[in-house]
Amino acid sequence: MSSPIKIASRLDPIKPSITLAVTAKAAKLKADGIDVVSFGAGEPDFDTPAHIKDAVRAALDKGGIGKYTEVGGILPLRKAIAAELSAVHKLDIAAENVLVSTGAKHSLYNLFMALLDPGDEVLIPAPYWVSYPDMVMLAGGRPVVLETRAEDDFAVTAHQVREACSPRTRAIVLNNPSNPTGAVYTRAQIEALAKIVVEKDLLVISDDIYRQLVYGDAQYHSIAAVSPEVAKRTILVDGVSKTYAMTGWRIGYTAGPLPLIKAMAKIQGQSTSNPTHIAQVATIAALTGPQECVGEMRKAFDERRLEMVKLLRAIPNVKCREPKGAFYAFPNVKKTGWKAKELATALLDNTGVATIGGPDFGILGEGYIRLSYANSTENILKALDRMGQFLASRKAA
Ligand code: PMP
Ligand code: GLU
Repeated sequence: MSSPIKIASRLDPIKPSITLAVTAKAAKLKADGIDVVSFGAGEPDFDTPAHIKDAVRAALDKGGIGKYTEVGGILPLRKAIAAELSAVHKLDIAAENVLVSTGAKHSLYNLFMALLDPGDEVLIPAPYWVSYPDMVMLAGGRPVVLETRAEDDFAVTAHQVREACSPRTRAIVLNNPSNPTGAVYTRAQIEALAKIVVEKDLLVISDDIYRQLVYGDAQYHSIAAVSPEVAKRTILVDGVSKTYAMTGWRIGYTAGPLPLIKAMAKIQGQSTSNPTHIAQVATIAALTGPQECVGEMRKAFDERRLEMVKLLRAIPNVKCREPKGAFYAFPNVKKTGWKAKELATALLDNTGVATIGGPDFGILGEGYIRLSYANSTENILKALDRMGQFLASRKAA
């Protein structure tokens, strides 16, 4: 008997999110009693800071929470976001140019839906965060992947962008600091990209979700701040998930030109409506409250970063560049003889250590895995020891 369920063909090229799939598998193994260390999803292991939870409690006690809000977020929140982003990007952003959504992932989804006509191209430097190409495809666009080189510290070059532009190119995604490589663009690299963006009349989708997580002498440089010509072509995507350990609250936001923000709000108004009211209240507390928690968590990530890189480099045949931002190490495992995806699967199945294979981030060459160091030092020590022992005792399948 034929089934009445026929899945829409627009889903044919779409893969499930591998970061979430690995995380779910790790959680299941853990529930089954296996000692799992998850370096899978990029998610701070810290609890949401106390003053944010206090603000939420106070708001619940006061009442008036639990109704629909304005679709794009309550005005005090949009004002707080506009003030923060204006300071960071040296712009004068108004609250009406801000749309709050259910995580930066939702912001990006709305953005591609609002922006792309069938066949419109979006340049995506690889290695990339797993969801960009699939979101572009869901919106009917065509992801054009630009493979960066380890020798360039995984930064896309202006030359690559120029070469990749076609009459259909609409935008480039700039994820700085980068998930999965931890690369942070230098000022010179940002300025070179800014130049080509104006020359080719592209939009820049500036995904700055890790902008507050940079280490050592690395600094975040805003492309929007380079010149007014670049600013008017830049769409800022940001959120509280990574900076304030608020992944589960699901708040992200976009700031950009009014027609685009209105178009995205129309999509949101016909799909999800407002992001959860109490999460919006929590976000106001995060953005306007004391900021010491951000520095404390950054310091902890930095220590773990150095520890993880040191331990990875101590494993024979594993090479690791120093990540400058976000919370991912992206070691080169080519010389171990393992294919990266097979190694990631074998590590989880045999040692309980969850990682993500590099090919899922769009690099054609095999040979890298991603480990999130947003995990305790104790877990990092334990898991890297297991990984070293596994590689010493097991040859590639
Ligand atoms: N952009 C990048 C590069 C990310 O790694 C993530 C993590 N999920 C997001 C956007 C979305 O974050 P969220 O939806 O939790 O705000
Ligand atoms: N961005 C994180 C990651 O890459 C969280 C999971 C996701 O949304 O992809 O692991």
